[in-house]
Amino acid sequence: MQVEFYRHNLDETDRANARRVLESVFLTTGPVCGEFEKRFAEYTGLEHAVALNSCTDALHLALLALGIGPGDEVITTPMTFIASATAILHAGATPVLADVNPATGCLDPDRVREAVTPNTRAILPVHLYGTMCDMPALREIADRHGLAIVEDAAHCVASSRGGVYVGELGDCACYSFYATKNLTCGEGGALATNNGELAEQVRLLRQHGMNKEASDRYHGTYQHWDMIELGYKANLDDIRASLMVDQITRLDEMQAERKRLHGVYSEALAGLLDAGLVELPELRGEPSHHLFTVLVPENMRDELLTHMGANGVGVAVNYRAIHTLTWFRENLKHEPEDFPHACSIGRRTMSLPFYPGLTDEQVAYVVRVLAGKFGKG
Ligand SMILES: *Cc1c(COP(=O)(O)O)cnc(C)c1O
Repeated sequence: MQVEFYRHNLDETDRANARRVLESVFLTTGPVCGEFEKRFAEYTGLEHAVALNSCTDALHLALLALGIGPGDEVITTPMTFIASATAILHAGATPVLADVNPATGCLDPDRVREAVTPNTRAILPVHLYGTMCDMPALREIADRHGLAIVEDAAHCVASSRGGVYVGELGDCACYSFYATKNLTCGEGGALATNNGELAEQVRLLRQHGMNKEASDRYHGTYQHWDMIELGYKANLDDIRASLMVDQITRLDEMQAERKRLHGVYSEALAGLLDAGLVELPELRGEPSHHLFTVLVPENMRDELLTHMGANGVGVAVNYRAIHTLTWFRENLKHEPEDFPHACSIGRRTMSLPFYPGLTDEQVAYVVRVLAGKFGKG
């Protein structure tokens, strides 16, 4: 049996929407992108959404729009994709790492509190695997020290915890529509916020700081545009937006299927869990169920990755702690043990195939292959 690590859920409607854009005159950021932004804002419950080229761009432009730059420190987690930290570096600021809660893998507010210095300007929490960070605790720290919060919601398109939803307590939330994310167009991202000024500033920065977008310039008589900021090129085009404008109406259904599959996996893994051979990260609140990861013994993890692949099961690692990667090791100069919980998760974690469309039989096969390595096949 072959079980892909990820399969997208684009359907005939999405393909027809893309075809319609491809057969029209206008390919770049225009009416379809605008409609997607409207629907995405509605979905998140936040007032404004700006569609972007990637979540990396969303994080970068959010920090710039908040006025964060050289000399500023932004506290984030080592248990994340590198983009959470590289966006801080690209803004000219310094990423300061704080360790995670060993059960959830999310930023630990106690470690964040210890990491605050007079130069701290923001916290960049990552809602790992779809479980939200403890946002009330982070908000309290931010309020005490006058910090901004930029939420990395790449794993967390729809979630709440203790009645708090994504982006509610932060200044904004940044989303990814990368190929393996819950909502996808291959490559894409968005920023959502209740702060209208922040949204407008990001809108300006996504398009070279030009005061008119191509769609404004296209209609009717020619109008001059002006450049009023030094901006970037980070807009999402109508071609990619067309793949999500209806996909988003199926997102709740897909989220429900992810939740069900999480249960199917947990049940199939019961023997290994009871024997203490495998652990699962703890979920909090109503998670987004982005990835299904298991923690395996450190001395078996890499062997297991090979074993799964050799038996036709796609696997991944989300993530090796970023401070152990070459560039960060050489530039931030941390020892692996500086963040022991992130380091430990990074050495034990393995992500299994997880997406709507995965069958219960496939889940059973994946778990059988895994159990085989423990002599429990
Ligand atoms: C995928 C991901 C990103 C980057 O998203 P892109 O859209 O590829 O830029 C950032 N942070 C986390 C936690 C991610 O998983």
